[in-house]
Amino acid sequence: MKADPQLQWRLLDLQTADTRLAQIAHRAKNLPEAAAVEARTAEIATLDSEIARARVDDEDVQRELTKAENDVALVRDRAARNRQRLDAGQGSAKDMQALTHELQSLARRQSELEEIELEIMERAEAATGRLTALTERRAPLDAALAEAEHARDAAVAGLDQERTDVATRRENIAAGVGGELLALYEKIRATTGMGAAPLTQRRCEGCNLELMSADLDRIRRAAEDEVVRCDECRRILVRTAESGL
Ligand SMILES: [Zn+2]
Repeated sequence: MKADPQLQWRLLDLQTADTRLAQIAHRAKNLPEAAAVEARTAEIATLDSEIARARVDDEDVQRELTKAENDVALVRDRAARNRQRLDAGQGSAKDMQALTHELQSLARRQSELEEIELEIMERAEAATGRLTALTERRAPLDAALAEAEHARDAAVAGLDQERTDVATRRENIAAGVGGELLALYEKIRATTGMGAAPLTQRRCEGCNLELMSADLDRIRRAAEDEVVRCDECRRILVRTAESGL
């Protein structure tokens, strides 16, 4: 195939644009800013389930506390009624003795129940404290997520802009090359990602191998407008001032 050396050089610009487009696509798929958003979202999900568990624990212990308070109140009320009857002094001596006896056992029972109530109050305080502490962590995480999303959106927008710019440049170069040469470039690029490479200091920059002297002789003898290809990687080899021929 023959093609004007100017057009062959343009293939290198085309390849630079295509390489950049591939880098942009790779970067878009592996954005650290997107990974940061995922990490923050996962942190929030973990915290939310901790908050939900803490809320259930808190509600359970509050119910336990209400029950314990009722138990104490029942005993206290019964003791108060007994004391009233005792103070009124109506009834036989035997009744009075029974009331006194019951008052003593009610006092014991009340002190036992108050001890239980106290223990539950301590647990309730701890459960509420834990719920509050977890809930307070939510707002800073929300703020961190919003910040991460903002950074990701900016990174995506930057890449989109660069992709558009490079794609436009690429289309202009491709249109300038055109014809069979472009078709050959596209065919090779479709299989290897790189259609053309410069020959630099006797080395093909596509496969990075140094050319054998027989190949170099062949290329040296080839006309300027002859399209030459690397024997190793079959890419279009573009001769430049730095080829070392
Ligand atoms: Zn090569």
